[in-house]
Amino acid sequence: MRTPVIAGNWKMYKTADEAGAFVREFLPLVQDADGVEIVLAPPFPSLAAVAALTRGTRIGVASQNVHFADEGAYTGEVSARMVRDAGAAYAIVGHSERRHYFAETDEFVNRKVRAALAAGLVPILCLGETLAERESGRTIEVVERQIRAGLAEVPGSAAGRILVAYEPVWAIGTGKTATPAQAQEVHAFLRGTLKQMWGEEAAGAVRILYGGSVKPENAAELMGQEDIDGALVGGASLSAQSFANIVKHR
Ligand code: PEP
Repeated sequence: MRTPVIAGNWKMYKTADEAGAFVREFLPLVQDADGVEIVLAPPFPSLAAVAALTRGTRIGVASQNVHFADEGAYTGEVSARMVRDAGAAYAIVGHSERRHYFAETDEFVNRKVRAALAAGLVPILCLGETLAERESGRTIEVVERQIRAGLAEVPGSAAGRILVAYEPVWAIGTGKTATPAQAQEVHAFLRGTLKQMWGEEAAGAVRILYGGSVKPENAAELMGQEDIDGALVGGASLSAQSFANIVKHR
């Protein structure tokens, strides 16, 4: 039985004050939501504040990125150990906006996944095809490359400490959601690939989230698919009310 995860990626939104106001509004809305892991991914400056405000609650905190090195001359970067020290338990890695705007390659993403694990964080490995890749029939080829490369040299024994987020790039922030059947097809493929890599038991332990214009109105149908174990939510996680509605309607 895989516990579902609903994670909110705030991207580059919310100051520390705004983040605090969100948490104070959100906590009572989800206090009765059992059997789900809730994760908030604020921007770096409010990570420690959100972690402090949610300590002892059912909410975990994620960074939106980590660097692969433990420390060093990498101006502007933040290591997994620093993220952990700020109170986070998860780290989003390889989000399509990072791959696109910051030229993150599969190899880079893999180093970040391994750095997150080594620091005791749960990596949320994001992957997904672009519209051009889907339209040219390359979805499966692309996600297979991304998951194999993203998890290279990661042992199956880490399966329970890894989240994968399938996020078709054409569905992120566009209002276009993959249909539940389209998403399930890719999720089932990803789980099959994990089975080839790590065996059935480990593959069955990995939570695979769907991301891409998830809203309260479409969450339940997506989450109802066999291999969809939760959601990574961007825009709809910025409002406490709408994010809480996704948690409740999963
Ligand atoms: C995301 O940023 O990971 C995301 C899925 O965004 P949105 O929900 O806004 O499409």
